[in-house]
Amino acid sequence: MANKKGILFVVSGPSGAGKGTICRALLEKADRFSLSVSATTRLPRDGESDGTHYYFLTRDDFEQKIDNNEFIEYNEYCDNLYGTLRSEVDRILATGKDCILEIDVNGGLNVKKAFPEAVLIFVLPPTIDILKARLIKRGTETLDVIEKRLEYVRDEISKASQYDYLLINDDLDVALHDFDHIHKSLYMAMERSLDTVETFKF
Ligand code: 5GP
Repeated sequence: MANKKGILFVVSGPSGAGKGTICRALLEKADRFSLSVSATTRLPRDGESDGTHYYFLTRDDFEQKIDNNEFIEYNEYCDNLYGTLRSEVDRILATGKDCILEIDVNGGLNVKKAFPEAVLIFVLPPTIDILKARLIKRGTETLDVIEKRLEYVRDEISKASQYDYLLINDDLDVALHDFDHIHKSLYMAMERSLDTVETFKF
């Protein structure tokens, strides 16, 4: 495995599906994954720091980076801009590690256009009722904000069929195990194994 080029994984899904928990667990569990830190114009939440959770930018700085073509993709979500920096992804893939992007569905589909070999994973909780309960319970938001979020989730789910894999996050350990299956089978695919086959030619 070690001599193979890393895989670019996009992990998306509605807020409340637990994609953040899955990504954090993958990073803690295995040294072979590295998370691409996105840029955003939203303000840091408590406990978030610049360069670790996001690169927190002013709108002017973000737009400058758009002009400089520094983003693989970017998207507006709840009045803030979020974008995947080309420099992050290039740096991680150059190390041979697998790169994880935890981004929204529109962003994921744009990454696939730029990197057709990227593997898109859509995370959902076990049922629609659980999803709705998590979305509504999540914070202290007004009904207006909750409505906006539900609308956004509806749109994301309508695009899920364009993703490569569905990961149901009921029990975290099971979800990680399922991710491991996807990961292994990708590495066992013949197109990623031709170098090894070459060494057997006589
Ligand atoms: P939050 O503000 O809760 O951290 O993130 C809001 C949404 O933006 C989440 O769905 C998150 O996955 C998404 N997001 C984070 N970084 C990026 C990015 O670089 N590009 C895109 N398109 N979405 C992102």
